[in-house]
Amino acid sequence: MFENKSIKIARTKNKGISKLALHFDTLDSGTEAFMHWLGSDDKMSTSNNPIIIKQFVRNKYAVLYDNTLGQDMIVETHDGVPFCKSCNIDDCGHVGFTILLEQKYENDGSILD
Ligand SMILES: [Zn+2]
Repeated sequence: MFENKSIKIARTKNKGISKLALHFDTLDSGTEAFMHWLGSDDKMSTSNNPIIIKQFVRNKYAVLYDNTLGQDMIVETHDGVPFCKSCNIDDCGHVGFTILLEQKYENDGSILD
């Protein structure tokens, strides 16, 4: 019982990759988060969305706020290929989210409509 408690505290304090892996560790999880965001009434609300967009510059970078981690994630795009600077990988949920964001911008000319 006590052991469980201490593990929980350690996890909460850990802001590293291991906690991240529990959440947006696949492109598909990013797709899900994007669909959720797209369908939400308030796209800036962190209480409704697992991920919101703080900054977006097409084909350059996106700053996403990951609500499950409580921190900003930076995804840089080079030659149309996004790479998550925060996770240091190219196939996490933040990358999946950014890919769809780029597509939406291309189709609609804006990300908030
Ligand atoms: Zn990431």
